Amino acid sequence: MIGYLKAIFGTDFSLFMIFISLITIIALAFFALKKIQTITLLEKKITKLQNDLEAMDEQARLIVKTDLELSQIQEELDRKIASLLALQHLSQAFSSFLDEEKIFSHITQDTIKELGFDLCLILVKKNEELTVRNSIGFKDRNRLQELLKIMKEKDFLNLLFQEKIISHSDFSPSFDYFFQYFRERVKLKSFTVSCIQSKDDVLGALILGNYAEEFFGGTREIVEILSTQLAQALENIRLFEKLYNSQKELEDKITGRTQDLRVALDEIKEISRLKSEFVSAVSHELRTPLTSVKGYASLLVQEKFGKLPDQIKLRLERINQQADSMVNMINDLLDIARIESGRMKIDIQIIDLVDLIKRVGDFLFPQMKEKSLELVLSMPSDVSIGADKKLIERVLTNLLSNAIKFTPKGKKIEINVSDEKDLIKISVKDEGIGISEADVKNIFKEFYRVDNPVNKEVKGTGLGLSLVQNIIKAHKGTIWVESKIGEGSSFIFTLPKA
Ligand code: ADP
Repeated sequence: MIGYLKAIFGTDFSLFMIFISLITIIALAFFALKKIQTITLLEKKITKLQNDLEAMDEQARLIVKTDLELSQIQEELDRKIASLLALQHLSQAFSSFLDEEKIFSHITQDTIKELGFDLCLILVKKNEELTVRNSIGFKDRNRLQELLKIMKEKDFLNLLFQEKIISHSDFSPSFDYFFQYFRERVKLKSFTVSCIQSKDDVLGALILGNYAEEFFGGTREIVEILSTQLAQALENIRLFEKLYNSQKELEDKITGRTQDLRVALDEIKEISRLKSEFVSAVSHELRTPLTSVKGYASLLVQEKFGKLPDQIKLRLERINQQADSMVNMINDLLDIARIESGRMKIDIQIIDLVDLIKRVGDFLFPQMKEKSLELVLSMPSDVSIGADKKLIERVLTNLLSNAIKFTPKGKKIEINVSDEKDLIKISVKDEGIGISEADVKNIFKEFYRVDNPVNKEVKGTGLGLSLVQNIIKAHKGTIWVESKIGEGSSFIFTLPKA
């Protein structure tokens, strides 16, 4: 090689050296270039790696941040769920009871915690005064009365009614004292006050707060829901109490009136008993002298004590007739008194009603004939009842003779008998003068006589229908009248079947 080089460069060694150096430089430059290239490449890789590392770092930071945020959101969510559950629990209690004690007993320290608060103060208006209904987590109880006094002075409730809801972060200057009280004295970090109100009235205030932390999102909604539900519950209780009280008042009134009526009824019974006794005694006392008056009059009329001038005889006959009707009247009065007092013996027997009606009809036939009245009987062929024959005969005689008395000539009188389940219904219907509605209410009263032309002409006592009613009552039946002026009357009575 060297020989080959010597051939090229000859003996000029320096040229050779230059050549060698050049070659070496070139070689070194080549290697250096290569190295640089490798270094650049490595540098690029390092930069890329660094970038990647940074990106990864960023991502890691992002992941940590997201994780933190997520756990915060999760925490918040848990709190919201807990508070919603507590709210649901409370609203169930609010709607299940109509008793203030029970409702407020559900607002406990735990429930308030679950709702997300440390403090709960419920103020309720009673007789225009603010009173503390519930107080949970409130550390300044001793000064509460002081606060209530200031609230009253500052017209707190009415101001709150206008604002509806206020909180530590937004309150108007009118609530300055309130804000200061809860911030500085009670040392609450956050609080909110909501008006408990019905449609048009303020019922109270709900104050919720926290000592250590700010409210979480959605607090305002929870407070609003809670105060609305409280208002609803209080309103329901008040309505229920109102209803209950008015019902109670009504019941008391009814009990009072019933008692009064019972006393009045007892008095009436006593008066009626005394009246019956009095009528009975007087009638007895009257009957004896009257019987002797009538006896003497009748003997005199019969001229048993000698012949009498016609004028005297005529007057004595009148005395005799009058004495007769007085005896009848006294007998009726005695019978009414006896039946009313239960002293009359009622002899119940099975009687043939059809036969009895026919007999009464026959007995009064002369009076009917005299007025050309037609008697129509409409009844089953055989009707048996359990009754006192003589008394029912008196009833029928009385009703039929009244019908004859108050029916004009040539008309018709009907007696109907019908079978009505457990009862027998008997009606005496005439085509007479009729009775007005006002008189119908009174005709069964003793001595009541309607003011009509017939009564002015024909004498009567007004005792007949009272006796009839008493007899029917004593048989556990009922009697009533259906009548129209100018068209006629129907006296209807029922008797239990045999
Ligand atoms: P009296 O017949 O003696 O007056 P009552 O007690 O029998 O007494 O009757 C009371 C009154 O009822 C009678 O005065 C009469 O005005 C009225 N009255 C009774 N029956 C009839 C009748 N069938 N039609 C119209 N009025 C009657």
